[in-house]
Amino acid sequence: MKARNSTQRQSRKIAHPELILNLGSCLAVIAIVAIVAFLLIRERTSAEHAASRSAANIVQLIDTDVLRNVELYDQSLQGIIAISQRPDLLTIPPELRQQVLFNPAITAPFRGDILWLDKYGDIVADSTSVTARSANFADRKIFQALRENPDLGLVISPPFKNPLTNQEWSITFSRRISAPEGSFLGVASGALRLDYFNDLFKSLDIGKDSSVNLMNTSGHLLARQPALPGDSMIGHDFSESENFKRILEAKQGSFTSLSTRTRQERLYTFSRVGDLPLIVIVAQPTAEVYASWKRTVVMIGVATGLLCIGILWLTVLLGRELRLRHRAEQDLATLAATDSLTGLANRRCLDQTLELEWARAQRGTRPLSVLMVDVDHFKAFNERHGHQGGDEALRNVAQVIEQCIRRPGDLAARYGGEEFVVVLPETDSRGALMIAETIRSSIEAQPPFGSDTQPITVSVGVSSQWADADKMLEALLCAADAALYQAKHNGRNQVRYGD
Ligand code: GH3
Ligand code: MG
Ligand code: MG
Repeated sequence: MKARNSTQRQSRKIAHPELILNLGSCLAVIAIVAIVAFLLIRERTSAEHAASRSAANIVQLIDTDVLRNVELYDQSLQGIIAISQRPDLLTIPPELRQQVLFNPAITAPFRGDILWLDKYGDIVADSTSVTARSANFADRKIFQALRENPDLGLVISPPFKNPLTNQEWSITFSRRISAPEGSFLGVASGALRLDYFNDLFKSLDIGKDSSVNLMNTSGHLLARQPALPGDSMIGHDFSESENFKRILEAKQGSFTSLSTRTRQERLYTFSRVGDLPLIVIVAQPTAEVYASWKRTVVMIGVATGLLCIGILWLTVLLGRELRLRHRAEQDLATLAATDSLTGLANRRCLDQTLELEWARAQRGTRPLSVLMVDVDHFKAFNERHGHQGGDEALRNVAQVIEQCIRRPGDLAARYGGEEFVVVLPETDSRGALMIAETIRSSIEAQPPFGSDTQPITVSVGVSSQWADADKMLEALLCAADAALYQAKHNGRNQVRYGD
């Protein structure tokens, strides 16, 4: 009984180291996963920053180039405007006038026609021929806008297929010609093939599936590199696309979003070209942006996973070893406290328990009772049945005594030979006498051993004390011993109480 109790206490003791081991390992694994996750998230952010930085550089490069060329074109328009107001212009020969108005050095790279229109919208001079074509542009929106508003500056048209250059996509740049006092005199306008931008973008290395796009602020696509197979989408109106609205609003920056056309996620980096109504956009697939990062994630993820599995596996092994060691210690402790013949607590365990319970009873001034049980005429029994039979009978007696005590704190122990001691904490003399009588009668009620006609009997000496600081444990034991002597003296198979 006692041996079992002390084993349970040790069981609780081992729970702590194993719990600490498991908790420690779990915390280590959580910490490793958290640190790796943090580093990978930071790595992802740097990959995104690096991609948007390099895209921003490309955007800046294109921005500067487009701006410089548009300014060059604008300068030639302003040149035409300045020359057109000279009164002596109409007096010089037409070929010379053509040369003066449309300097081939400026117009050639753009390969578009430059027109000078009068205030009625008729062509006055045409860069493509000395004799101006006869056409009227008074009904065009840009012409009307420039006529009505002297402050419009350079106006860029939406993209259109130019009939003069084999239906190639073009845009026009137009400026108002005003008299010195401000009245409307006409319009200087030049067309630019959009292929010009494609040629410009082709020289840039932007990544396999990335694209460079030039759009106007009305949402029309002016140029795209690489060109899309089949439908080039040039001139397509993206003004209703959420991405375009975001770009238009932010003017400059980058963001990640789904492509309107392919529904793939892309990193958009964009900027307005100076004050012009043009926007340069570099679109990179996020799969491309994060490709190298994803490879790192797989590598580090696998390594971290293996490390964590290793730690947890070692923890399980260590936990098992701890449990095995603990069980072995428990078995040893139980063996050290158990009598090998009867399985009851042994003398050593009995002595410890008696001291412990006596001290506890003294602290609370509680009763402690002791029963001394001795088998009657056991010497003779041994002689009749031999030592083997005697041992078996002792085991039976021990089993019956064990069955008669119920409380968890009670202890039955083999005192030595055919003598047993029962310790009953928190039990007064009345309760102790009852248990003693139960033990005695239960043993008497057992069937006789072998050829015997009479059952084995026991004599029991009972002693009970309300422990306090003045009393001694020895006195309690002596009283029980004396009571046992009395029981023997009075004829055995009985219970006696001794003070
Ligand atoms: P009493 O009624 O006065 O107690 O008589 P008894 O014969 O029981 O008392 P005694 O002390 O004279 O004899 C005890 C006997 O118990 C001696 C020994 O042969 C026997 N004995 C003691 N320990 C063991 C044991 O472990 N096994 C066996 N089989 N017998 C034992
Ligand atoms: Mg004896
Ligand atoms: Mg005896």
